[in-house]
Amino acid sequence: MGAFDTVSLRDLLAKATPRPWKACSANDGHCSCGLLWSVPADVVLLATYVPRDDEISVPIVNDNTQLIAAAVNALPGLLDEMESDKAGADQWHDKCLLARQERDQLRAQIQELEIAFRVG
Ligand SMILES: [Zn+2]
Repeated sequence: MGAFDTVSLRDLLAKATPRPWKACSANDGHCSCGLLWSVPADVVLLATYVPRDDEISVPIVNDNTQLIAAAVNALPGLLDEMESDKAGADQWHDKCLLARQERDQLRAQIQELEIAFRVG
């Protein structure tokens, strides 16, 4: 299904530390520690850093951490929507195939009738 493996993603989600994940929200959300937390487990999962020119890693504002938390938290819902859309598309595909078969059968019947009554 698609360009990536939804089953593997769900497996990774199931094995990972429980969600929701959140970026550190100290200092009214302006903390720059870069820590990513699991809310239910109440543990730090990782810290995001960016190296400076002097090669000393310093914490950056929580932008990267907030992106990771938002993406991981949204992933189960996105997978649900994707699989639902796929199921809907499969149903329409089946309906189209049936409609084409019916059309072809009706065309064949019309041809037989035209021949039988020498119409057209
Ligand atoms: Zn912090």
